[in-house]
Amino acid sequence: MEPSSYTLEDLRNWRTRTNDGRPVRLGIFGDPVEHSFSPQMQNAALEACELDMQYGRFHIKADELAEALRLLPALDFIGINLTLPHKVNAAAFVDELDPFARSVGAINAVRIDGDKLIGFNTDGPGFARAIRQEFSVDLRDLRVLLLGAGSGAGRSIAHQCAAENCERLVLVNRTAAKAEQLAAELKDSFADTRVAGPVARLQAIPWNDHALRQQIANTDLVVNATTLGMKRSDPPVLTATLLEPHLMVYDTVYTPPRTSLLAAATEAGALGANGLSMLLHQGALAFERWFDRDAPLDVMRAALTASPI
Ligand code: NAP
Repeated sequence: MEPSSYTLEDLRNWRTRTNDGRPVRLGIFGDPVEHSFSPQMQNAALEACELDMQYGRFHIKADELAEALRLLPALDFIGINLTLPHKVNAAAFVDELDPFARSVGAINAVRIDGDKLIGFNTDGPGFARAIRQEFSVDLRDLRVLLLGAGSGAGRSIAHQCAAENCERLVLVNRTAAKAEQLAAELKDSFADTRVAGPVARLQAIPWNDHALRQQIANTDLVVNATTLGMKRSDPPVLTATLLEPHLMVYDTVYTPPRTSLLAAATEAGALGANGLSMLLHQGALAFERWFDRDAPLDVMRAALTASPI
Protein backbone atom coordinates (compact mmCIF):
# COMPACT_ATOMS: atom_id res chain seq x y z
CA MET A 1 0.00 0.00 0.00
CA GLU A 2 1.48 3.37 -1.02
CA PRO A 3 1.22 6.27 1.48
CA SER A 4 -1.34 9.06 0.90
CA SER A 5 1.60 11.48 0.80
CA TYR A 6 5.36 11.03 0.49
CA THR A 7 7.98 12.77 2.63
CA LEU A 8 11.54 14.03 2.26
CA GLU A 9 12.72 10.73 3.73
CA ASP A 10 10.91 8.89 0.90
CA LEU A 11 12.69 11.09 -1.64
CA ARG A 12 16.05 10.38 -0.01
CA ASN A 13 15.43 6.63 -0.41
CA TRP A 14 13.46 6.84 -3.63
CA ARG A 15 12.49 3.55 -5.14
CA THR A 16 8.81 4.21 -4.76
CA ARG A 17 6.46 3.13 -7.47
CA THR A 18 2.72 3.05 -7.21
CA ASN A 19 0.90 -0.28 -6.99
CA ASP A 20 0.23 -0.53 -10.70
CA GLY A 21 3.92 -0.08 -11.48
CA ARG A 22 3.73 3.42 -12.91
CA PRO A 23 6.50 5.61 -11.46
CA VAL A 24 5.78 8.86 -9.67
CA ARG A 25 7.54 11.50 -11.80
CA LEU A 26 5.45 14.56 -10.94
CA GLY A 27 3.86 15.89 -7.78
CA ILE A 28 3.00 18.71 -5.44
CA PHE A 29 5.07 19.92 -2.47
CA GLY A 30 3.16 21.56 0.38
CA ASP A 31 2.61 21.72 4.12
CA PRO A 32 -0.19 20.80 4.53
CA VAL A 33 -0.77 19.02 1.23
CA GLU A 34 -3.52 16.50 1.95
CA HIS A 35 -6.24 18.94 0.85
CA SER A 36 -4.80 19.47 -2.66
CA PHE A 37 -6.95 18.49 -5.66
CA SER A 38 -3.98 18.63 -8.05
CA PRO A 39 -3.25 14.86 -7.90
CA GLN A 40 -6.79 13.90 -9.05
CA MET A 41 -6.67 16.45 -11.84
CA GLN A 42 -3.12 15.72 -13.06
CA ASN A 43 -3.44 11.93 -12.80
CA ALA A 44 -6.60 12.06 -14.93
CA ALA A 45 -4.66 14.10 -17.49
CA LEU A 46 -1.71 11.67 -17.49
CA GLU A 47 -4.02 8.74 -18.00
CA ALA A 48 -5.98 10.43 -20.79
CA CYS A 49 -2.71 11.24 -22.60
CA GLU A 50 -1.40 7.69 -22.04
CA LEU A 51 1.65 9.02 -20.23
CA ASP A 52 2.91 6.11 -18.17
CA MET A 53 3.57 7.87 -14.88
CA GLN A 54 1.87 9.25 -11.78
CA TYR A 55 1.58 12.55 -9.92
CA GLY A 56 2.00 12.29 -6.13
CA ARG A 57 1.50 14.32 -2.98
CA PHE A 58 4.60 15.30 -0.97
CA HIS A 59 4.40 16.62 2.56
CA ILE A 60 7.49 18.82 2.57
CA LYS A 61 8.15 21.29 5.38
CA ALA A 62 9.65 24.74 4.80
CA ASP A 63 13.12 23.76 6.06
CA GLU A 64 13.11 20.64 3.81
CA LEU A 65 12.25 22.40 0.55
CA ALA A 66 15.75 23.12 -0.78
CA GLU A 67 16.94 19.53 -0.32
CA ALA A 68 13.70 18.05 -1.70
CA LEU A 69 13.94 20.15 -4.88
CA ARG A 70 17.62 19.30 -5.38
CA LEU A 71 16.90 15.56 -5.25
CA LEU A 72 14.44 15.65 -8.15
CA PRO A 73 16.71 15.71 -11.26
CA ALA A 74 18.58 12.54 -10.27
CA LEU A 75 15.25 10.81 -9.55
CA ASP A 76 14.04 11.35 -13.11
CA PHE A 77 11.22 13.73 -12.19
CA ILE A 78 9.59 15.85 -14.90
CA GLY A 79 8.22 18.61 -12.72
CA ILE A 80 6.62 19.64 -9.49
CA ASN A 81 3.92 22.03 -8.26
CA LEU A 82 4.36 24.16 -5.15
CA THR A 83 1.68 25.24 -2.75
CA LEU A 84 1.60 26.88 0.67
CA PRO A 85 4.09 27.79 2.17
CA HIS A 86 6.67 27.25 -0.60
CA LYS A 87 5.81 29.58 -3.48
CA VAL A 88 8.15 32.44 -2.53
CA ASN A 89 11.00 30.41 -1.03
CA ALA A 90 11.14 28.01 -3.96
CA ALA A 91 11.92 30.89 -6.32
CA ALA A 92 15.27 31.24 -4.54
CA PHE A 93 16.12 27.53 -4.86
CA VAL A 94 15.71 27.00 -8.62
CA ASP A 95 18.38 27.55 -11.29
CA GLU A 96 16.28 29.72 -13.59
CA LEU A 97 13.05 31.70 -13.42
CA ASP A 98 10.94 32.60 -16.40
CA PRO A 99 10.37 36.37 -16.80
CA PHE A 100 6.83 36.37 -15.38
CA ALA A 101 7.88 34.37 -12.29
CA ARG A 102 10.85 36.70 -11.81
CA SER A 103 8.59 39.76 -11.73
CA VAL A 104 6.09 38.10 -9.37
CA GLY A 105 8.85 36.78 -7.10
CA ALA A 106 7.05 33.47 -6.54
CA ILE A 107 6.60 30.18 -8.41
CA ASN A 108 3.92 27.52 -8.33
CA ALA A 109 5.66 25.05 -10.66
CA VAL A 110 9.07 23.73 -11.66
CA ARG A 111 10.16 21.94 -14.82
CA ILE A 112 13.23 19.75 -14.63
CA ASP A 113 15.51 20.19 -17.63
CA GLY A 114 18.50 17.84 -17.36
CA ASP A 115 19.97 18.75 -14.00
CA LYS A 116 18.40 22.22 -14.00
CA LEU A 117 15.28 23.37 -12.15
CA ILE A 118 13.28 25.95 -14.13
CA GLY A 119 10.72 27.85 -12.05
CA PHE A 120 7.54 29.32 -13.50
CA ASN A 121 4.23 30.70 -12.33
CA THR A 122 0.89 29.72 -13.85
CA ASP A 123 -1.35 31.28 -11.15
CA GLY A 124 -1.65 34.63 -12.97
CA PRO A 125 -2.20 33.21 -16.49
CA GLY A 126 -4.55 30.58 -14.99
CA PHE A 127 -6.54 33.37 -13.35
CA ALA A 128 -6.87 35.22 -16.68
CA ARG A 129 -8.20 32.07 -18.37
CA ALA A 130 -10.58 31.47 -15.45
CA ILE A 131 -12.06 34.97 -15.78
CA ARG A 132 -12.59 34.41 -19.51
CA GLN A 133 -14.23 31.06 -18.82
CA GLU A 134 -16.48 32.28 -15.99
CA PHE A 135 -17.55 35.69 -17.27
CA SER A 136 -16.74 35.65 -21.03
CA VAL A 137 -14.59 38.79 -20.71
CA ASP A 138 -10.90 39.55 -21.03
CA LEU A 139 -8.91 41.07 -18.20
CA ARG A 140 -7.76 43.90 -20.47
CA ASP A 141 -11.33 45.23 -20.58
CA LEU A 142 -11.84 45.22 -16.83
CA ARG A 143 -11.48 47.55 -13.89
CA VAL A 144 -10.28 45.21 -11.15
CA LEU A 145 -10.40 45.57 -7.36
CA LEU A 146 -8.04 43.03 -5.80
CA LEU A 147 -8.33 42.07 -2.12
CA GLY A 148 -5.27 40.25 -0.80
CA ALA A 149 -2.80 42.21 -2.90
CA GLY A 150 0.00 41.09 -0.57
CA SER A 151 -0.55 37.36 -0.99
CA GLY A 152 1.43 35.16 -3.38
CA ALA A 153 -1.72 34.59 -5.44
CA GLY A 154 -2.58 38.29 -5.28
CA ARG A 155 0.85 39.28 -6.60
CA SER A 156 0.49 36.84 -9.52
CA ILE A 157 -2.98 38.18 -10.32
CA ALA A 158 -1.85 41.82 -10.12
CA HIS A 159 1.15 41.16 -12.41
CA GLN A 160 -1.18 39.37 -14.85
CA CYS A 161 -3.55 42.37 -14.83
CA ALA A 162 -0.53 44.54 -15.64
CA ALA A 163 0.70 42.18 -18.39
CA GLU A 164 -2.76 42.23 -19.99
CA ASN A 165 -3.01 46.01 -19.60
CA CYS A 166 -6.30 45.93 -17.74
CA GLU A 167 -8.31 49.15 -17.60
CA ARG A 168 -7.76 49.80 -13.93
CA LEU A 169 -6.34 48.03 -10.88
CA VAL A 170 -7.11 48.86 -7.24
CA LEU A 171 -4.96 47.02 -4.70
CA VAL A 172 -6.17 46.28 -1.17
CA ASN A 173 -4.44 44.30 1.55
CA ARG A 174 -4.81 43.92 5.32
CA THR A 175 -1.14 44.90 5.67
CA ALA A 176 -1.42 48.05 3.58
CA ALA A 177 2.34 48.42 3.01
CA LYS A 178 2.37 45.29 0.80
CA ALA A 179 -0.33 46.71 -1.50
CA GLU A 180 1.57 50.00 -1.69
CA GLN A 181 4.79 48.16 -2.53
CA LEU A 182 3.02 46.22 -5.30
CA ALA A 183 1.53 49.45 -6.69
CA ALA A 184 5.04 50.92 -6.83
CA GLU A 185 6.32 47.85 -8.72
CA LEU A 186 3.51 48.08 -11.29
CA LYS A 187 3.54 51.85 -11.77
CA ASP A 188 5.14 51.85 -15.23
CA SER A 189 2.64 49.34 -16.62
CA PHE A 190 -0.23 51.70 -15.81
CA ALA A 191 1.41 54.93 -16.95
CA ASP A 192 -0.83 55.32 -20.05
CA THR A 193 -4.23 56.96 -19.67
CA ARG A 194 -7.05 54.55 -20.46
CA VAL A 195 -9.77 55.34 -17.97
CA ALA A 196 -11.95 58.38 -18.51
CA GLY A 197 -12.93 60.37 -15.43
CA PRO A 198 -11.31 61.36 -12.18
CA VAL A 199 -10.12 57.92 -11.01
CA ALA A 200 -6.52 56.71 -11.09
CA ARG A 201 -5.67 53.65 -13.21
CA LEU A 202 -3.55 52.14 -10.46
CA GLN A 203 -4.16 52.72 -6.77
CA ALA A 204 -3.48 51.11 -3.40
CA ILE A 205 -6.24 51.88 -0.91
CA PRO A 206 -6.74 51.07 2.77
CA TRP A 207 -9.05 48.17 3.70
CA ASN A 208 -12.09 49.93 5.18
CA ASP A 209 -15.73 50.25 4.10
CA HIS A 210 -15.46 53.95 3.27
CA ALA A 211 -12.44 53.52 0.96
CA LEU A 212 -13.93 50.42 -0.70
CA ARG A 213 -17.36 52.04 -1.26
CA GLN A 214 -15.70 54.90 -3.14
CA GLN A 215 -14.22 52.42 -5.64
CA ILE A 216 -17.20 50.21 -6.42
CA ALA A 217 -18.82 52.47 -9.06
CA ASN A 218 -15.52 52.35 -10.99
CA THR A 219 -15.00 48.60 -10.63
CA ASP A 220 -16.15 45.69 -12.84
CA LEU A 221 -14.43 42.75 -11.15
CA VAL A 222 -13.83 42.17 -7.42
CA VAL A 223 -11.28 39.43 -6.64
CA ASN A 224 -10.59 37.77 -3.30
CA ALA A 225 -6.99 36.54 -3.13
CA THR A 226 -6.87 36.41 0.67
CA THR A 227 -7.18 33.19 2.62
CA LEU A 228 -10.46 34.49 4.11
CA GLY A 229 -13.34 32.16 3.36
CA MET A 230 -11.43 28.90 3.70
CA LYS A 231 -12.61 28.42 7.29
CA ARG A 232 -16.27 28.65 8.30
CA SER A 233 -15.22 30.82 11.25
CA ASP A 234 -13.58 33.47 8.99
CA PRO A 235 -15.15 36.94 8.99
CA PRO A 236 -16.74 37.89 5.62
CA VAL A 237 -14.34 39.36 3.06
CA LEU A 238 -16.96 41.97 2.09
CA THR A 239 -20.61 42.34 3.04
CA ALA A 240 -23.44 42.44 0.49
CA THR A 241 -24.08 46.11 1.30
CA LEU A 242 -20.71 47.01 -0.29
CA LEU A 243 -21.45 45.12 -3.51
CA GLU A 244 -23.61 46.16 -6.48
CA PRO A 245 -25.47 44.24 -9.23
CA HIS A 246 -23.11 45.39 -12.04
CA LEU A 247 -20.13 43.55 -10.45
CA MET A 248 -18.45 40.25 -11.26
CA VAL A 249 -17.01 38.67 -8.11
CA TYR A 250 -14.25 36.04 -8.29
CA ASP A 251 -13.19 34.19 -5.15
CA THR A 252 -9.88 32.32 -5.57
CA VAL A 253 -11.01 30.15 -2.63
CA TYR A 254 -12.87 27.00 -3.74
CA THR A 255 -13.37 25.08 -0.50
CA PRO A 256 -16.12 25.52 0.47
CA PRO A 257 -17.47 26.02 -3.08
CA ARG A 258 -19.97 28.67 -1.97
CA THR A 259 -17.90 31.05 0.13
CA SER A 260 -19.37 33.85 2.22
CA LEU A 261 -18.16 36.33 -0.44
CA LEU A 262 -20.07 34.47 -3.16
CA ALA A 263 -23.15 34.40 -0.92
CA ALA A 264 -22.79 38.18 -0.50
CA ALA A 265 -22.44 38.58 -4.30
CA THR A 266 -25.68 36.67 -4.88
CA GLU A 267 -27.44 38.72 -2.23
CA ALA A 268 -26.31 41.92 -3.99
CA GLY A 269 -27.45 40.62 -7.40
CA ALA A 270 -23.86 40.34 -8.73
CA LEU A 271 -22.33 37.48 -10.72
CA GLY A 272 -19.94 35.22 -8.81
CA ALA A 273 -17.54 32.30 -9.35
CA ASN A 274 -15.18 30.34 -7.13
CA GLY A 275 -11.49 29.45 -7.63
CA LEU A 276 -11.98 25.98 -9.08
CA SER A 277 -11.61 27.37 -12.61
CA MET A 278 -8.29 29.01 -11.63
CA LEU A 279 -7.10 25.71 -10.17
CA LEU A 280 -8.03 23.97 -13.41
CA HIS A 281 -6.28 26.46 -15.69
CA GLN A 282 -3.11 26.89 -13.63
CA GLY A 283 -2.84 23.07 -13.64
CA ALA A 284 -3.46 22.81 -17.37
CA LEU A 285 -0.81 25.45 -18.06
CA ALA A 286 1.71 23.59 -15.89
CA PHE A 287 0.93 20.35 -17.75
CA GLU A 288 1.57 22.13 -21.06
CA ARG A 289 4.97 23.34 -19.84
CA TRP A 290 5.98 19.90 -18.55
CA PHE A 291 5.02 18.01 -21.71
CA ASP A 292 5.08 20.65 -24.49
CA ARG A 293 1.60 19.58 -25.55
CA ASP A 294 -2.00 20.66 -24.98
CA ALA A 295 -3.58 19.60 -21.71
CA PRO A 296 -6.80 17.54 -21.83
CA LEU A 297 -8.88 20.30 -20.26
CA ASP A 298 -12.23 18.51 -20.29
CA VAL A 299 -10.76 15.45 -18.56
CA MET A 300 -9.10 17.64 -15.93
CA ARG A 301 -12.29 19.62 -15.37
CA ALA A 302 -14.30 16.41 -14.96
CA ALA A 303 -11.77 15.07 -12.43
CA LEU A 304 -12.08 18.27 -10.37
CA THR A 305 -15.85 18.29 -10.52
CA ALA A 306 -15.89 14.69 -9.32
CA SER A 307 -13.64 15.55 -6.31
CA PRO A 308 -15.53 15.57 -3.02
CA ILE A 309 -15.37 19.22 -1.87
P1 NAP B 1 -0.54 33.94 1.30
O1 NAP B 1 0.60 34.33 0.42
O2 NAP B 1 -0.26 33.28 2.60
O3 NAP B 1 -1.37 35.29 1.60
C1 NAP B 1 -2.44 35.35 2.49
C2 NAP B 1 -3.26 36.63 2.20
O4 NAP B 1 -4.45 36.62 2.98
C3 NAP B 1 -2.49 37.90 2.55
O5 NAP B 1 -2.86 38.91 1.63
C4 NAP B 1 -3.04 38.21 3.95
O6 NAP B 1 -2.93 39.56 4.30
C5 NAP B 1 -4.49 37.82 3.75
N1 NAP B 1 -5.18 37.57 5.01
C6 NAP B 1 -4.97 36.52 5.85
N2 NAP B 1 -5.81 36.63 6.91
C7 NAP B 1 -6.54 37.76 6.73
C8 NAP B 1 -7.56 38.42 7.49
N3 NAP B 1 -8.00 37.93 8.64
N4 NAP B 1 -8.08 39.56 6.99
C9 NAP B 1 -7.64 40.07 5.81
N5 NAP B 1 -6.68 39.50 5.05
C10 NAP B 1 -6.14 38.36 5.51
O7 NAP B 1 -1.58 33.01 0.54
P2 NAP B 1 -1.62 32.48 -0.98
O8 NAP B 1 -0.90 31.20 -1.07
O9 NAP B 1 -1.28 33.53 -1.95
O10 NAP B 1 -3.18 32.16 -1.07
C11 NAP B 1 -4.10 33.22 -1.05
C12 NAP B 1 -5.44 32.70 -1.51
O11 NAP B 1 -5.37 32.36 -2.88
C13 NAP B 1 -5.90 31.45 -0.77
O12 NAP B 1 -7.26 31.57 -0.47
C14 NAP B 1 -5.67 30.33 -1.78
O13 NAP B 1 -6.60 29.28 -1.63
C15 NAP B 1 -5.94 31.09 -3.07
N6 NAP B 1 -5.31 30.45 -4.25
C16 NAP B 1 -6.13 29.85 -5.13
C17 NAP B 1 -5.59 29.26 -6.25
C18 NAP B 1 -6.52 28.61 -7.22
O14 NAP B 1 -6.02 27.93 -8.13
N7 NAP B 1 -7.81 28.77 -7.08
C19 NAP B 1 -4.21 29.28 -6.49
C20 NAP B 1 -3.39 29.93 -5.56
C21 NAP B 1 -3.95 30.50 -4.43
P3 NAP B 1 -1.56 40.10 5.01
O15 NAP B 1 -0.61 40.39 3.88
O16 NAP B 1 -2.01 41.31 5.73
O17 NAP B 1 -1.08 39.02 5.92
